[in-house]
Order: sequence, then structure tokens, then C-alpha cells
Amino acid sequence: MRTQIWQVVVDSIFFKCDFLYKFSDTQTSFVKEVWVSFFLEGNVLSKGKIFVVGFGPGDREHITKRAVDALQQSNHIMGYKTYVDLIRHLVTAQTIVSTGMTEEVSRAQDAVKQAEAGNIVAVISSGDAGVYGMAGLVYEVLIEKGWTEATGIEVEVVPGISAINSCASLLGAPVMHDSCTISLSDHLTPWTVIEKRIEAAAMADFVIAFYNPKSGRRTRQIAEAQRILLKYRSPDTPVGLVKSAYRESQNIVLTNLAEMLDHDIGMLTTVVVGNSSTFFYDNKIITPRGYQRKYTLGDEKQVWKPHQRLKKEAEPWALDQETGEAQSGYEKIEAIKAGPNPKIEPLKEVSVTTVEPVPVVPTKLQQLPEKKSALEMARMALACISNEPVKTDFLVQQAIESIFEFAVSPGVANKIITPQQMKVLADVVGENGTLEYTPDHRFHVKIPTEAPEKIVEILRETGLYVLPMGDVLNIKACDFCYGEKAESIPYAEEIMDTLGGLKLPKELHVGFNGCGMACYRAVFDDIGIVYRKKKFDLFIGAKPVGRTAHAAQPVAEGLEPDELIPLLTKIVEEYKEHAHPNERFFKYFKRVKKIAHFTYQDMSCKIKVEEAPCGD
Ligand code: SAH
Repeated sequence: MRTQIWQVVVDSIFFKCDFLYKFSDTQTSFVKEVWVSFFLEGNVLSKGKIFVVGFGPGDREHITKRAVDALQQSNHIMGYKTYVDLIRHLVTAQTIVSTGMTEEVSRAQDAVKQAEAGNIVAVISSGDAGVYGMAGLVYEVLIEKGWTEATGIEVEVVPGISAINSCASLLGAPVMHDSCTISLSDHLTPWTVIEKRIEAAAMADFVIAFYNPKSGRRTRQIAEAQRILLKYRSPDTPVGLVKSAYRESQNIVLTNLAEMLDHDIGMLTTVVVGNSSTFFYDNKIITPRGYQRKYTLGDEKQVWKPHQRLKKEAEPWALDQETGEAQSGYEKIEAIKAGPNPKIEPLKEVSVTTVEPVPVVPTKLQQLPEKKSALEMARMALACISNEPVKTDFLVQQAIESIFEFAVSPGVANKIITPQQMKVLADVVGENGTLEYTPDHRFHVKIPTEAPEKIVEILRETGLYVLPMGDVLNIKACDFCYGEKAESIPYAEEIMDTLGGLKLPKELHVGFNGCGMACYRAVFDDIGIVYRKKKFDLFIGAKPVGRTAHAAQPVAEGLEPDELIPLLTKIVEEYKEHAHPNERFFKYFKRVKKIAHFTYQDMSCKIKVEEAPCGD
């Protein structure tokens, strides 16, 4: 390009100067050539330029247009041999200099020299030139020479796709949340510094992309990194090893923190370590966009549905913009309710609210972990990377506060909750939780907490039932006439123990009533069981609400006690396996027409509604 420009300049000089026409063709072209190269090489009329080009992971598809243009405009290309080979087919430069891995500094010096001589020079880096690449070195060399943008040669850093991004794309979406890159090369950085960075990143729950993880000589660094990470993260933490992303020898391994060293890791590998929320899904590594902050008892995956995530209660961790203090979402809502100008006044008041330990269970509640403030965490992180000796007793990764959602009841049959249990429940729920009484005769509890397991332990110790919420099997029994009809209670409890809390496509209610009166309306549940004359009647597929509500279909009478649970299990498992996500039980029965050996019958009583006398 630059050569062409000079060609045009020289041609027009020839055009203007008549005397030059006296030259023969050979003389003309010789003179022109000398002039062009004089202008180009001699830096007579123009300064040179350096492009520092990141060419991405290595294939043609992932190099930017600007990078290709820069390479094609350059008459001098310099880079590490392997990289030069990757882009050689794209360029026509007269000079291509490939150097060894350790010659970055001399490469940068040489590039500056060439540009000062009027050349257009491209210095290339894989990925992005500003990430462990040549950009910084080029600037360092220039600065040493007193370069400024106004007086010196032109410099353009052309961005490229760095390994953290190219490798992440091949793994799924592991880098969705706050992340960092750490180079494990202690060639230019002392290991003690690298070690502290790993520690700080591990503690602060960053997704980490390790560059330069291992080479022929450097083998211990990645093992040390693993050891440090295991102090803070679960051995199951997903890890992706991507070798030569988007190159011919690309290789992807999904593993975990405990087993990552059992696989091949080399110079061309990037090691991506997930954070505490990262999970595997269908051969992919996914880090959720934010912390889910939900803990549902018995759920393997703790996820908010999209509409739930958008609510304020789902964000108890938000940092208040005005006061700079972290508050719970509930405190925030209270503060907003509290006054006309919530931004100024009431916040402080609410944020200092303390929950007194409960007299009845003081020791247990005191065991709930204390929350660390953002400031404390920041101090800890700073201490980790400063040169001061680090107190290791506080080096524990911040526990993540979740909204723990569950149901509580005094029992399957028992409907009496004691004052003592009530007190414990109230204290556990505390200032920040909510307690809602539901039509299913139980409390629906939501508590922001870092220690859901501890809460379950405290409540169960006091004799309360703690049950999962959501799309699970719930069992709702009658009160058995307060013990007068207690015979069948053990069967109800057995159903609870065997199937209660089972995860299903949609919530499913099993109603269990202890006599033929069925006054707790078992026949209006998804599955109704009525105990009568030492045997069971079974009803399935009620539609309990809506304009087309109807009772369940009676499908079996006089079932023997030992037949009940196997039959129930069969019905529930068929539904679990074959229903669409979110498909209610009655809809499923209506669609498939058969569950176990029971055939569907339309129980909706379709009465013709008479036309209203005044129709319009
Ligand atoms: N400037 C480059 C990084 C150079 S450091 C960039 O932004 O990507 C060299 C390290 O980068 C390698 O050890 C490896 O960890 C990583 N890397 C570079 N290219 C890669 C690729 N195609 N696949 C996987 N890792 C790569």
C-alpha cells in the first residue's frame, strides 16, 4: 500500500518533468525504483509505523479484518516463529522475521528500529497483543527512547481474541462472571507474587484462566496452583483444558479441580477453572450470569425461574449506592417502605438492626457463620497481594448467601405446632426472613442465609418437618380426627418417607385421608388416597382449581396396604419420566390417556351454560 502511494508520487514527478522523458524505458523504471525505495527506506518524507497485531487463536475465521489489513499494509513482519507460520499465508510483506520464544525484547527493539527507518512494521502476538503479548514491550522500548505520540512514530495496537475468550467459547460459557487471567510463567514474574494472586483470586471466587500453565521445564507451577485452589474450592469445581484452540491440533478436556493434573497440560493449553457456581451441562461448562442465591432443599440445581430472579428479594447482597454499605434485600425493602426519602434517612437505622440470639437454641444459632463485610473481604484480598505477612486464619472463601426456601409443618398427620417450636421457627426466620402460611397447612419459609444445612438441623431437632418447595411431590394428610382414626397414619408417613420431596416436572399433591368422609378433600388432589375398612381407595387426576375444576377419577377400590406404595411409585415415576416440563398431573393423564393400568375418563362435567337473559 505504502509502496503504491510512493509509486504514484514518483509517476507524477515524472509527468511534470519534461526532461525526464529523454530517458529510455529501462532508465525510467530504474530511476523510479530508486526513488521509491529512497522514499520508503530512507524515512525522508515520512515516519514509519508499528502495528502490534493480535491475530486471535490462530485460524483465519477468528482474525479481525483490521488485523488482516494491518498485516497486508506492513512491509516488515516480525514475530515468534510458530505465530509467523500461522499468518504467513495472509501476507505479502517483503521481510518476515521469525524469532525464538525468548527473544521478545530484541524483537521489540528491532521493530522500533525498523519503524524509525520508515518501515511499516507489524509485530504479531497470538490472541490479543495486550495480554502477555508484544504490546507492552513495544511501548517499553519506545518509552526508553523518549517516544511520544506527537513526535514519534505512529503506533497502533490491533486487538485480537485472547485465549480466555477463544477457549471459553469452546467450553460453553465458563467465564460469564467476574474472572481473571493468571500466567503461571515465573520467567518474568516472581513465583511469590503469582502464588499470592492465585490465593486472592481463589478466595474471591473469580473464574480463573491460567495462561502458560506448564512447559517442559516448568511443571510444578500448575500443581501448586491446584493445591492453593483446593483450599477454597470444591474438588468438583469444573475445569476446562483447552489446547490449541481453533488450530489443527485443538483438544478440549472437561475435568475438575481434583483430577485436572491427570490430563495433558502443556505450553499451548489454557486452563479455565470455574467459580463456586460453575456447573457442567451436556459436555459444557457453564457459569451462571450471577449468583443464583437460592437454596431449595433437595434440589440438585439451585435456580431461580427468570421471573423470580428479577425480584428485589432475589438480590439480598446489593451494595447500597448512597451509603456504600452492604444490606440485605429485605432490609432495603423495609427501608424503602419506611419513609418518603428512603435514600437518605432510614437506611442507616435499618442496617444496624441486629438479631438477638434466641434463648431456646442459643448455641445452634450462634453457630451460623458470621457474615463478612465487603470491606473486610477487600482488606483480606489486599493483604494477600501485599508484602505484609498474611494472617491465614481468615483466609476462607466468603460463603455465598442464598435465599433458602422450604416448607415447615409439625408432621404429616399432626397439625399441632407447639409454642416452643413456634419460637424456634420465629427465631430462625429472624428479621430478614419471611414466613407464609399456605393452603397446604404448612409454612412457606424464605431466609437469606449462608448456612441452610444448619437451619434444617435446628428445625428438625425441635421436631418440625422441613420439606422442599417447588416442583416436588407433597403429601397432605388429614388430622385423622385428632388421633381417633389414627390407624392409617403410618401409611401416610411411609408415603412421605418414600416419595415426599421427589423432584417432578410440576408440583404434585398427594392427599391422604383417614376415613371415607375424606373431609380434607383428598379426591380433589392430583392423587387422592382414602383409607376405608383397612384398605385404600385411589383417585387420580383432579383439577382442583379453575372454571373447569373437577374431582379426581376413582381408579381403584379396596387396595391392600402392601399394594399401595408400589402402585403409587409406578404412577409417579411414569409421570416423572414422560410428562413435559411444567405439565400438571391431570393434563398429563388427559394427554397420554393411561397411567399404570388405569385408563383416562373425562371427569369434567360439561354442563351447557344457558344463555344469559340479557346477553349484551
Ligand atoms: N497473547 C496471548 C497469550 C500469550 S501467552 C492471548 O491473548 O491469548 C501464551 C499462552 O496463551 C499459552 O501458554 C496458552 O496458555 C495461551 N494460548 C494462546 N493461544 C492459545 C490457543 N490457541 N489455545 C489455547 N491456549 C492458548
